[in-house]
Amino acid sequence: MTIILDGKSLSQSTEKDLVERVELIKKKIKKVPVLATILVGEDPASATYVRMKGNACERIGMDSLKVELPSNTSTTELLKEISKLNKNPDVHGILLQHPVPEQINERQCFDAIALEKDVDGVTCLGFGKMSMGEAAYGSCTPAGIMRLLKNYKIEISGKHAVVVGRSPILGKPMALMLLNENATVTICHSKTENLAEHIQKADILVGAVGIPRFIQSDWIKEKSVVIDAGYHPEKCGDIDLDEVEGKCSAYTPVPGGVGPMTINTLLKQTVEACEKSIQK
Ligand code: NAP
Repeated sequence: MTIILDGKSLSQSTEKDLVERVELIKKKIKKVPVLATILVGEDPASATYVRMKGNACERIGMDSLKVELPSNTSTTELLKEISKLNKNPDVHGILLQHPVPEQINERQCFDAIALEKDVDGVTCLGFGKMSMGEAAYGSCTPAGIMRLLKNYKIEISGKHAVVVGRSPILGKPMALMLLNENATVTICHSKTENLAEHIQKADILVGAVGIPRFIQSDWIKEKSVVIDAGYHPEKCGDIDLDEVEGKCSAYTPVPGGVGPMTINTLLKQTVEACEKSIQK
């Protein structure tokens, strides 16, 4: 039997818990958690992602503070905005929507986000702490995938995980999170030779390539767990999932697998950041 790793229903059920936590915060401090979103420029896909995140905040009773900057914003101007949000006690999490226009030094701006407000897990400091197994907010997509795997009690320890993709927000943190859970991890990328041979050895396969249906279903090992992090306008992911049903032991559908867990993890980490700020 093949299990469908249903990120949509898991995220909906955990939203109920988040609503209760937001209510508790409201009772305690007469304020709600606030996620600040920064959108630079007019890229329609980025604007849609920011709107979706704002709507998700509303659904659980949180507020979002939308900062919209013109496409010719400089690194210095963006750093000033981030600094203001870092100092604002009413803001608990900061999300800088990626990608930013090319004149901006994205890494410098990500790293300017205060660690305690880095709920999207984009700073080098947060990444380093997470890699060392210390407390830090993880990058939302891989952290959401780990939550999905744990919810379905997928065994990770001792398994051979193959992550295809090594981006700073997805492939790399994914590989480290799996390693921290005692998987034996292979990371593949665009220079990897004999990619199909690596994939054929995966007990847990994560596709994070950014190319529609790039990973062929006949490369996938029998009874493996298949995680497709990709999402493309044609409503498919990075893995050809048409023939995985019956072959693998579990897989994430596209849509409805990894995507909803990403936004849900962002909400969860913002609520946690607010709870921690109250405890201080
Ligand atoms: P990215 O920054 O473009 O990284 C793609 C990675 O794939 C790179 O490491 C690249 O290798 C590797 N790659 C490219 N061509 C390859 C090939 N022929 N063989 C093996 N590896 C190859 O993309 P990303 O931001 O990580 O996103 C990856 C996917 O996840 C996309 O489909 C994106 O839409 C999706 N995504 C989904 C969510 C969500 O919430 N569901 C969030 C983020 C991303 P090099 O490093 O060598 O270039």
